[in-house]
Amino acid sequence: TSAPRAYAAQGAAPSGYVPNTNADGTYNVTLIPGDGIGPEISRSVKEIYDAAKVPIKWEEVSVTPILVDGVSTIPADAIASIKKNTIALKGPLATPIGKGHVSLNLTLRRTFNLYANVRPCRSIEGYKTAYDNVDTVLIRENTEGEYSGIEHEVVDGVVQSIKLITHNASSRVARYAFEYARANKRPHVTAVHKAPIMKMSDGMFLRACRELAPEYPDIKYDEDLLDRVCLRIVQNPAPYSDRVMVMPNLYGDILSDMCAGLIGGLGLTPSGNIGKDASIFEAVHGSAPDIEGKNLANPTALLLSSLMMLRHMQLTDKADLIEKAVLSTIAEGTRTRDLGGKASTQQFTDEILKKL
Ligand code: NAD
Repeated sequence: TSAPRAYAAQGAAPSGYVPNTNADGTYNVTLIPGDGIGPEISRSVKEIYDAAKVPIKWEEVSVTPILVDGVSTIPADAIASIKKNTIALKGPLATPIGKGHVSLNLTLRRTFNLYANVRPCRSIEGYKTAYDNVDTVLIRENTEGEYSGIEHEVVDGVVQSIKLITHNASSRVARYAFEYARANKRPHVTAVHKAPIMKMSDGMFLRACRELAPEYPDIKYDEDLLDRVCLRIVQNPAPYSDRVMVMPNLYGDILSDMCAGLIGGLGLTPSGNIGKDASIFEAVHGSAPDIEGKNLANPTALLLSSLMMLRHMQLTDKADLIEKAVLSTIAEGTRTRDLGGKASTQQFTDEILKKL
């Protein structure tokens, strides 16, 4: 198997990142601590960044939803902060259940045109799962597909839900996947689809990928069926460690959780939402209300997301330093409860701090 690569989010594709720096050379970054365990794991990131002297000034904003005309909306100052800094680290947001509430995560994706969702899954040394060689990168179209939210009841008992695929959105996520593959030395892009059934929609997605492939002669391009990829990855993940998988929205949502399961679960999986107008980095997991305020949360996924962010900002040295400290802490046996350990969030954080 190939050597593990860094948790990265760069591709040379238009990322919309325009550094907002201060006179002292520091970068302004929006921090949304989020709900549930969000504030606890965000505190851990802040402590570690202070100790590692990362040149970042956090602009902390709350996105507690406000109701405007009966519909939940993100407060204007949070939107303004992300617009200004074009980069944010975000804790999980609980989606309130009930009328008038829309997912704030979806709102952020739409507001900032966050078109590519990058989800790397890598085996963590020292944390034993069925495989020790998982190193997948999945790039999910993040704005349309079945998640367009276009649904209606045709007649009583019959509902229609529309999967929307545009050439434009397919092409920009495909471009990002090829650029990511090149920038991160993964010389193979596989488009994952169900085009034999979804002939027109997935067919258009594939056409957009195929059109770009000749521009990247250094990258091998092929296509595979979603169900076949699921089967193959769980049988043997090794062949997927040299490639980038790119796919429509829903497929990426499901396949990325399957990959997360192979490396030990949600406490370990980071993600980046790359956009035209900004990029927002976040853990894949939710607000974990069952362990909120108990000092039990594993901050690793948010930390790894923040490292993708640092690399996106070209602050590679700091990302390398922190990544080494986090991974060696886990490898040496200091682990939170979700990984079978006994360490609290703070004890785990303190152990990382000792290595910086
Ligand atoms: P969840 O990911 O919050 O929790 C699932 C299980 O994993 C829980 O047992 C939880 O304790 C555990 N877990 C998750 N993260 C952990 C961590 N860092 N350390 C240790 N254990 C961890 O999923 P859920 O319970 O289905 O969702 C709770 C809320 O989060 C819902 O309101 C949902 O809408 C929201 N959510 C938000 C996001 C996001 O902001 N991107 C993503 C998923 C879910």
